[in-house]
This record gives sequence, structure tokens and C-alpha cells, in this order.
Amino acid sequence: TGNQSEDLSISQDKEQLSELTGEGSTYEFQAETRRLLDIVAKSLYSDREVFVRELVSNASDALERRRRSELTGQLDQAETTSLEVHLTTDRHDNTLTIQDNGVGMTKEELVKNLGTIAHSGSKAFVDKLGTSGEGQEVIGQFGVGFYSAFMVSNQVDVFTRPPDAALGHKWTSDGLGSYQVAEVAGGEVGTKVVLHLKPESREFSSEDVIKGIVMKYSNFIGFPIFLNGTRH
Ligand code: ADP
Ligand code: MG
Repeated sequence: TGNQSEDLSISQDKEQLSELTGEGSTYEFQAETRRLLDIVAKSLYSDREVFVRELVSNASDALERRRRSELTGQLDQAETTSLEVHLTTDRHDNTLTIQDNGVGMTKEELVKNLGTIAHSGSKAFVDKLGTSGEGQEVIGQFGVGFYSAFMVSNQVDVFTRPPDAALGHKWTSDGLGSYQVAEVAGGEVGTKVVLHLKPESREFSSEDVIKGIVMKYSNFIGFPIFLNGTRH
């Protein structure tokens, strides 16, 4: 019906997104990932705020990789681009957005990096679960990386485009069994992670709360961090 397409364009305008060029495809999370997500989502872990550190450090890693590939001449765009992390809180929509203009991900990288748990922290966590059966107490010891976003979110959207790619992609998931990937025309270079916060995690859409968290460790991040447009 006409209604459907109208709704879609309204929500895109609202988030200032570029056009989704297809319906996208649905992928199942790997079994190990599902297990991890299940524990993460039910987590009562008191230091939930660590997800901010995880996502900012991913942004910083992506910026560092872009800086290095520019130095080695693999990408000649943007000697002039300033590499930055931007956090945006939206109280009304109850969202927190973490955006970088780093290396971004291709579709294949999205599926591999955000659909499986090959990387160290989460892998060690799931291996540990095999013996203890309980995850709550040990989440903090490992740092579950990107998936920690699901401690506080009931939906996560990732918009991403490498500097040399004409098209970007949107990855979206509720952190349950599956995720969707769709092509996006004309998205910005880098990666934008939009957290649709759980009602009980509403504190993380507060500028003051995020400011407090970011101040704790932003000194260790080698790129400028902006919160709602102001540098910290
Ligand atoms: P880790 O950072 O330990 O590798 P994460 O779960 O935090 O594990 O992230 C998984 C992978 O997803 C990263 O290794 C990286 O390849 C990719 N990734 C996550 N966030 C970003 C980002 N902002 N930009 C580019 N790639 C990212
Ligand atoms: Mg990480």
C-alpha cells in the first residue's frame, strides 16, 4: 500500500539517512553468537556503561586503520578529512549514536565481523561459559565488544561505508536470532552505530550521563570526541 512507502520515507528523513536501495537479506547469527547475545541482553551486570567504551574504542580502531592506510598511500582521499568520533544523544527518541569516519565495512566484513565472534574478548567469554554456565559475573572481565551494545539496546542499526565504496550498507538487529543487511545509497564514509535504548536504559540518552562516561577515558582515545557537536 501507499502507506508503507510513506512511513519509510518519513523515518529516513528523520534520521537523515540516505536511501535504502533494497529490501536487504536476513542472516542468522552463528550459534555461539546467539548464546553470547542471550546472556548480554539479559545482563544485570552493573557496569553496563562499558558498552560506551567498547563502541568508542571500535570507532577509534577504525579511524586508526584509516589513518594508517592513508599514510601508506592505499587511500588517497582525504588528507584533508579530520578523523573524529561523534556521539549524539536523543532524549526524545531514546537513542545514542556513535559515529566515526574511519575505514567502514564492506558487506562481507559486516557479516563476518558483526555476525560471528572470531575476535578475542567475546571468544574467551563464550569459552568460559562452556565451563561455568553463568555469564553475568564474568562479562566485565572480558569485554564483549560490539555485542555489549545489546546490554542496553533492543535494536541496533549500523550504517557503514568504506572510503572507496560507492555504496554503503545498513546492518540492523534486535539481538535475538538474526540480523538484516541492506544496501544504502550515498551513506557517509565510516560507521554510524545507532542504539535504540531499552526503556530501562534510558539514562544513556542523557547528554550528561554520556559526558560523564566519556570523560573517564577519552584521554586514552587518540582522536577528537564530540558529544552533540561539542568537543570533549
Ligand atoms: P574487537 O574490537 O575486539 O575486534 P568487537 O566485537 O568490538 O571486537 O568488533 C568486532 C569487529 O567489528 C572489529 O574487529 C571490526 O572489524 C568491526 N567493527 C566494529 N566496529 C567498527 C567500526 N566502528 N568501524 C569499522 N569496523 C568496526
Ligand atoms: Mg572492539
